[in-house]
Amino acid sequence: MVLDNLGSSLRGSLDKLSGKSRVSEDDVEEIVKEIQRSLLQADVDVSLVMDLSSSIKERALEEEPPGGTTARDHVLSIVYEELVGLVGESTEIPLENQTILLAGLQGSGKTTTSAKMAWWFSKKGLRPAVIQTDTFRPGAYDQAKEMCSRAEVDFYGDPDNEDPVDIARKGLEETADADIHIVDTAGRHALEDDLIDEIEEIESVVDPDRNLLVLDAAIGQGAKDQAQQFDESIGIDGVVITKLDGTAKGGGALTAVNETDSSIAFLGSGETVQDVERFEPNGFISRLLG
Ligand code: GDP
Repeated sequence: MVLDNLGSSLRGSLDKLSGKSRVSEDDVEEIVKEIQRSLLQADVDVSLVMDLSSSIKERALEEEPPGGTTARDHVLSIVYEELVGLVGESTEIPLENQTILLAGLQGSGKTTTSAKMAWWFSKKGLRPAVIQTDTFRPGAYDQAKEMCSRAEVDFYGDPDNEDPVDIARKGLEETADADIHIVDTAGRHALEDDLIDEIEEIESVVDPDRNLLVLDAAIGQGAKDQAQQFDESIGIDGVVITKLDGTAKGGGALTAVNETDSSIAFLGSGETVQDVERFEPNGFISRLLG
């Protein structure tokens, strides 16, 4: 069992089942309460937590443990399966030529993520290029250029061009030799109509294989509106959660995953290009519960 990093009170509740061959309703209730407390603290949406709780309760009481399995291990494996169901498997990112469009609000970490992902693909032996279309945020061009140079990956941007759609078109032409095109877009402080119009236009020119929504781990329930709007306009295939090196556990992003019927692709945990990893359910679950 991979959940070796359970919170101590949850572990305590599970350990009370040791030696028992059957679980009682009270046992399950106590375990579910511990899980609920951790998930709500980690910003996971209440209705997601409630759905998970009823599935765990129902299964733990109704399913027969397979022969030779203790009650503790049986319940633990149900808890684990249900938690994996909640956070999902990692978004499929094939190691082949593709174009990825990044969407999200200003400050969510898109520009940083574009360079990080490019670095990640370069370590997999592919040739990535970042195309910076954010003409709105002062400094976005310099920041992206600097990070891409540190990551030693191709970069295209044009500080003298104010038309993001034109930059996207030219960027694809100029970086035609690259295997992976990562297109960074402008964010805003809030979801304004012109932002949505702009990203739709960029999307139609770029024709991405994947649209990823970048979310700050501290997003909380604000994730829902963003996810809905971006999903309606361009369609969201996966989520990137940034700033997991802070105190936030990123549970709010699960709302976006649920809302867009997508999954988590990458996690960001720092300001340098190397601070990126592919999403992997076990580590993330441990973090949510820990
Ligand atoms: P954008 O407006 O969406 O392009 O956001 P940026 O990429 O400019 O990121 C906003 C701020 O968050 C910058 O100061 C980044 O250095 C910082 N940032 C981005 N990702 C992370 C992360 O994973 N951890 C930390 N600690 N800071 C991050």
